[in-house]
Amino acid sequence: MRILVTGGAGFIGSHLCERLVNEGHDVVCLDNYFTGRKENIAHLLDYYRFELIRHDVTLPIFLEVDQIYNFACPASPIHYQFNPVKTVKTSVMGAINMLGMAKRVKAKILQASTSEVYGDPLVHPQPESYFGNVNPIGLRSCYDEGKRVAETLFMDYRRQNKVDTRIVRIFNTYGPRMLPDDGRVVSNFIVQALQGKDLTIYGDGEQTRSFCYVDDLVEGIIRLMNTEGDDIHKPVNLGNPGEFTMNELASEVSKACGTDITVVNQPLPEDDPKQRQPDITRAKDLLDWKPTVPLAEGLKKTVDHFRNAIRGSAV
Ligand code: NAD
Ligand code: UDP
Repeated sequence: MRILVTGGAGFIGSHLCERLVNEGHDVVCLDNYFTGRKENIAHLLDYYRFELIRHDVTLPIFLEVDQIYNFACPASPIHYQFNPVKTVKTSVMGAINMLGMAKRVKAKILQASTSEVYGDPLVHPQPESYFGNVNPIGLRSCYDEGKRVAETLFMDYRRQNKVDTRIVRIFNTYGPRMLPDDGRVVSNFIVQALQGKDLTIYGDGEQTRSFCYVDDLVEGIIRLMNTEGDDIHKPVNLGNPGEFTMNELASEVSKACGTDITVVNQPLPEDDPKQRQPDITRAKDLLDWKPTVPLAEGLKKTVDHFRNAIRGSAV
């Protein structure tokens, strides 16, 4: 198949491109390099089946493809809050442009949505049936509400135009190829630990997240795209249900790096969710999927990547 991956030079997108090229598909990677890097996909450039396009998803583009993975969107709070209006445009106009393409060429299309659609959840763990507790006017809204509108568009293009859609709600995912200055907690803690700096814990560190290793996530995403069924177009959570406080994560990072750490507490950002854990019953039932990489093992692989990245060698 010919498969388009938007945001393909980013963290998750690059792993997806690599997996699809290895499966023998023609892969078109589209990216504007806001938070992605050519280095992430440099190793794929020698494959004749791999193509790279510099383009912004907020603008229309005409391609002929069989499947579209719509992953273009900054995911780290510091990056999506850098230009919040652009973040909304990327989610909303990006979804419209990609859905329009899917409708025109009858491609199957999968949207990278997020656990952020649950906001600061009042239900724990979060099943897909939970409507969420999202602040529509806060600093995180450009991302959360942008993704919620993207989900709406996916459902309406399906109902109105019979587009073959999928929606994955991704929970915190980590692994090699996150940028050292990505700003999310796993990369921050690892880089700080390797550089002998204080680990920056926001608030009292008792807020929780559930961390999924990128290979597990990519496996689930590909299964979702390629599974059929009556309900398959409705959102599916993908994430690792293992739940950790940020204090616990700091100590896991210390073990994975093999170094003692010191921490410094900094103010908790506005609307920072207090707890988050995926209910993955639906993914298990529909896709026969569950994560296989425990946090300690995934962190070790990620630490290896950052040791090299910080040394300035192979990334
Ligand atoms: P990332 O920032 O590494 O990747 C995003 C990619 O999209 C980058 O390559 C960036 O340059 C590109 N991009 C941004 N705006 C664009 C635009 N207007 N046009 C074209 N390209 C654009 O982030 P990631 O962690 O790889 O996330 C990928 C997707 O998965 C995002 O849609 C994100 O919302 C979603 N997601 C990720 C996580 C996670 O934990 N990593 C969790 C939930 C959802
Ligand atoms: N966080 C932290 N220190 C950091 C970066 C983040 O304590 O250096 C906290 C942040 O406040 C949040 C959690 O880690 O409670 C996860 O943050 P991240 O930005 O990785 O993801 P998100 O909040 O979008 O789930």
